[in-house]
Amino acid sequence: MQKKILITGGAGFIGSNLCDHFIGKGYKVTCLDNFATGHRHNLSQLMEHPNFTLIEGDIRDAETCHRACERQDYVLHQAALGSVPRSINDPVTSNDVNVGGFLNMLVAARDAKVKRFVYAASSSTYGDSKSLPKVEDVIGKPLSPYAITKYVNELYADIFSKTYGMECIGLRYFNVFGRRQDPNGAYAAVIPKFVIQLMKYESPTINGDGDYSRDFTYIDNVIQMNERAMLTEDSKAVNTVYNTAVGDRTTIKDMANLLKEYLSIFDSKIAEVEIQHGPVRVGDVPHSKASIEKATELLSYQPSHDFAAGLKEAVRWYWKNLTEK
Ligand code: NAD
Repeated sequence: MQKKILITGGAGFIGSNLCDHFIGKGYKVTCLDNFATGHRHNLSQLMEHPNFTLIEGDIRDAETCHRACERQDYVLHQAALGSVPRSINDPVTSNDVNVGGFLNMLVAARDAKVKRFVYAASSSTYGDSKSLPKVEDVIGKPLSPYAITKYVNELYADIFSKTYGMECIGLRYFNVFGRRQDPNGAYAAVIPKFVIQLMKYESPTINGDGDYSRDFTYIDNVIQMNERAMLTEDSKAVNTVYNTAVGDRTTIKDMANLLKEYLSIFDSKIAEVEIQHGPVRVGDVPHSKASIEKATELLSYQPSHDFAAGLKEAVRWYWKNLTEK
């Protein structure tokens, strides 16, 4: 029997890549999205596909969540309002969507008796913990409203596993990047924002001296983790959280320079664009690098792309897609 997956936030960056992947593997995929930050053009290749269904709706509405979960085998819950600065500017809406919406989805998935609920957690849960590499069990205090919402997701998932016998797995994503990540808007992530600026010969601004570091994670690694989490039959591997990363770190300065180098292959003038520096951003964690030991051991995860390989593919995609439009 063809298995059914509900992907919330399926019109967004990560969600639309998950939709493509699982349609390609022969699943029936339903996307639930309200297009708050996602785009119809992320789904245009799927709209005519017989195995694809779009539900335009909001996870803050419990009835919509129930309707979307009916007869689904798995839920990959991606819908949320991302971005630390957005949550600082408007903590109430971030909380309504990321906590209220999450709880609605858990209840709906429980009532529909789905086999497994895999959800997007976040490396922001490590908060002010200084230990490196980040190991799942050692977290600090959250540094932003966004980080609180993502941590609360983990607490709720844990309680739903224990109280209702649901199978939940949280994936703590570390700075994901790749095709379709939105370069536009006030809350754009650093890599696509820098790409679009460099392509216009505008100087990107690094917050601080550029020595902060991140475990930048290419989208294909994230897809792999979702698939492994969804399908694992090892009971020791469920009802827990996993770092979803490469297990390496790159400074913001090095990332910006590598971006320039890869973009210069397409347009040599980009090599001359200067990088500027601005003030450090409130709520930013100075350094982030994951241990991926747990995912390797329990889910047999092996990242397919290190940072440089992923960045090269991402740059190629942006060049093709942004210059064609
Ligand atoms: P995105 O903004 O591209 O995707 C989020 C999607 O959720 C969008 O399509 C948006 O329209 C949808 N959405 C928002 N509010 C909704 C609502 N009320 N009802 C229905 N749909 C709604 O972001 P992304 O980078 O693809 O992030 C996906 C998930 O991964 C989020 O939960 C995010 O918090 C988490 N995450 C992302 C990263 C990263 O580096 N991109 C890191 C850690 C965690």
